[in-house]
Amino acid sequence: MRTKINHVTVVTMDEQFHVYENGYVVLEGNTILETGEGEGPADADGTVDGKNGILMPGMINTHCHIPMIPFRSLGDDCPDRLRRFLFPLELEAMNRELIGQSTRYGVCELLLSGVTSVLDMYYFEDQVAAACEEMGIRAYVGQTIIDMETCDSKNTDQSLAMCEELIRKWKGHERIRPVVAPHATNTNPPEVLKAAYELAERYDVPYTLHVSEMDYELEMFREKYDQTPAEFLYGLGVLGERTIAAHCIHMTDRDVEIFRETGAKISHCIGSNTKSGKGVCPLRDLKAAGVAVGVGTDGPSSGNTLDLFHQFRMIPAFQRTRYHDRSIFTARDVVAMGTIEGARVLGAEKETGSIEPGKRADLTLIETESVNMFPVYDPYSAIVYSADASNVDSVWVDGRQLVKGHRLRFADLSAERKALDGMMKEFREQSVKYADIR
Ligand SMILES: [Zn+2]
Repeated sequence: MRTKINHVTVVTMDEQFHVYENGYVVLEGNTILETGEGEGPADADGTVDGKNGILMPGMINTHCHIPMIPFRSLGDDCPDRLRRFLFPLELEAMNRELIGQSTRYGVCELLLSGVTSVLDMYYFEDQVAAACEEMGIRAYVGQTIIDMETCDSKNTDQSLAMCEELIRKWKGHERIRPVVAPHATNTNPPEVLKAAYELAERYDVPYTLHVSEMDYELEMFREKYDQTPAEFLYGLGVLGERTIAAHCIHMTDRDVEIFRETGAKISHCIGSNTKSGKGVCPLRDLKAAGVAVGVGTDGPSSGNTLDLFHQFRMIPAFQRTRYHDRSIFTARDVVAMGTIEGARVLGAEKETGSIEPGKRADLTLIETESVNMFPVYDPYSAIVYSADASNVDSVWVDGRQLVKGHRLRFADLSAERKALDGMMKEFREQSVKYADIR
């Protein structure tokens, strides 16, 4: 089955950044067959008229906690939410079923906003994997390992075992990739961070954790080891090409050098980082050093949305302000971070992140008919500065069209929401005691 999408501006994000202004893309099965300027070949089995929209590679969200949907907008202005109510409420009210249904709802949001690959990190990650598998998105699923009792395990021995089980079950799957996800630098003892890394090495899967995000995290490493978290991880031997470090807000020149040397990657979550006033990652320096940096939304509790458009606009705004330089982080640089650079972060650049023959057909079509999308002089600018999630018309993952005309083809959003709402009764009851927390 060959499908042709034409009458679109194709933003390929290939090495030469080819843009085909009146272009087309042909898909066959789950693969991109060809792309170029013009109407495209006449022998396709079906044609999708893109109506002068912008066809870009599917967006890649490199750091998320999808099942945290029930927490969205709860205690948004409370300082230190993580320790004061997120951890306790997760332990009290999250469970296998709620995590499965929250994931289904969150994946609806991801797909409707043009995200085709997501890296998740949470509890009962096997449920997350199953929901993502069923919904059709490409997902990297990380079982959290943390040194405390959680909703899915009593201790790190148990969560490490769950992680290994997850890997054995999903390794080799076409779209669902298991990941080892120790929670953070300061929430696991060094030997557990190391054991988790060895597990990732043994099965050749990615390793992801929160790094240099919290003030108290930096303080702890300074006082205990006279090191930064990055220096500490380096000494421990857990930074390498498979490492995906989320946040990295507070980075010294030495930390940047460590990331360059080890090939460790970064997920930049500007929305989450600035909502909580934590700081702005020195992206310009990391990029200059050649460190791969993708975009992440963090969970719906930390950043409130799972779409990348919100993040896109904030990246140049905060970087230019930080460095007092308007020339840095062009719209094209930002789109690259949300696509091909994100693929590099996941180690998937041979598979996704650009529109090139032979790559997987993960595509997002942004319409230009809505009021906010006129005129379009530059497609990159239109994506970063004009568009939002409501402009996503169609989405393909692995060659399968999952969104068409702004609607999910294989899921009923209102039914998913109703099902989730029905499961949130106990969560809502438990959350009441944290309502006034400041
Ligand atoms: Zn996070």
